[in-house]
Amino acid sequence: MIKEPRDALQDQLNELIAEHRNTQKQFAVLLININHFRQFNIIHGYASGDRLLSAFQLRLQDLAREQDQIWRIANSDFVMLLPEILNAGHTTLAAIKILGSLQGPFQLEDRSVNISASIGIALFPEHADDAQVLMLRAETALVEAYNDIQSYAIYSAAKPDRVTRWDIESDLQQAIDRSDFELYFQPQVHLQSGKLFGAEALIRWQNGDQGFVRPDIFIPIAEQSGQIYEITKWTINAAMWLTKDWPRLPEPIKVAVNLSTKMLSEPGLVETVQQALSIHGIPNGQLTLEITESALVEDYAASLQALDDLNALGVNISIDDFGTGYSSMAYFKNIPANELKIDRSFVRYMLENRMDQHIVKTLIKMAQGFGLAVVAEGIEDAETYQALHDLGCDIAQGYHLAKPMPQQDFIDWITAYHDDGANRLAR
Ligand code: C2E
Ligand code: MG
Ligand code: MG
Repeated sequence: MIKEPRDALQDQLNELIAEHRNTQKQFAVLLININHFRQFNIIHGYASGDRLLSAFQLRLQDLAREQDQIWRIANSDFVMLLPEILNAGHTTLAAIKILGSLQGPFQLEDRSVNISASIGIALFPEHADDAQVLMLRAETALVEAYNDIQSYAIYSAAKPDRVTRWDIESDLQQAIDRSDFELYFQPQVHLQSGKLFGAEALIRWQNGDQGFVRPDIFIPIAEQSGQIYEITKWTINAAMWLTKDWPRLPEPIKVAVNLSTKMLSEPGLVETVQQALSIHGIPNGQLTLEITESALVEDYAASLQALDDLNALGVNISIDDFGTGYSSMAYFKNIPANELKIDRSFVRYMLENRMDQHIVKTLIKMAQGFGLAVVAEGIEDAETYQALHDLGCDIAQGYHLAKPMPQQDFIDWITAYHDDGANRLAR
């Protein structure tokens, strides 16, 4: 009987566990995923996808020691088993070697392509002494790796296990097919005048089996699988569709949509945005797209071009989560941004932590020096709101004003705030 690769791997893991248990030695499971493989197949075709997988497997084999084992378990997932390792550093080195080997292009018949990968690592017996749990831990680490600049992560017990990526990926597909998402809106106000400025649109997904799944868990998975393209189209269109029913104020209420890092190098992005604006009759200047610092890391030239094109449409560009990445001042030179959002991790403790306060102060000065509006996100109390007001920050967002809420609640909120809230909050 031919075994499913996953079952065969499970057997192999059980064997390794039995051997290592006796000798008190460690072994490592490296779960390796080729990034954006789904997208690769769509662009280059499935035949090229298959050739890429074979070529990738050969590269892994070249790197492996004699005792290491390589398994292809699903789609673009590979597992490398490293028996008898001395310490975690050994596995880190292996991960770095694998990722380093991807720096050169793959030659696939008529074309040469570049790919990247992410690696999740779990160790026996440190992280689990059972085959199934060990795989689950490698899965959890892989989700961490998607978010890590180094593209690999070792399982950390400090982070709870999550539902597996496969569950989320297939449930997400169903959610996409049925448009099972909802958009919540969180208000933003001018700190100095207290007037309503706009709202950030935040996606919500209520998954039947799992319940509410946080966007910072499923968005990275969707980015990895390529599903983010469809989700983003849904988000932009839903935001425009809902915005048109908001109360009309003398200053139109801006709506900010988060744009995944991966979207900037997507060829149809600018058309998608323009179409959504036109269909719903929203003036281009009313839309803001939030990008994070890492957006330009992947394909700098294409991303910059997309930003220039969006800017030419009159759409606003905001730099989200500022301060958490690796950008320098040079980052601003070429980006047509209008706005900078100081990450909530600095805002949260700025009253207790002098360093955070100093960072916030410096970022406000710097951004304003570049002619950018500054948004502080994550303002949870009146004292922090006041402090940011005194520092000359432009726009406020956070639980102190309101938590993200569904469309109808947001409309009610606007009406109530417009009636009396502005005076209350602007002192
Ligand atoms: P973000 O863009 O930085 O969004 C702000 C996050 O901070 C939201 O979390 C919001 O609920 C939370 N927040 C706002 N005020 C406060 C506060 O006072 N205290 C605290 N503790 N948190 C506050 P949420 O909605 O869970 O979103 C998390 C992240 O998921 C977002 O971070 C964004 O990166 C991503 N995301 C959300 N919706 C979308 C979407 O439609 N598309 C894409 N690509 N990413 C999205
Ligand atoms: Mg945001
Ligand atoms: Mg943010």
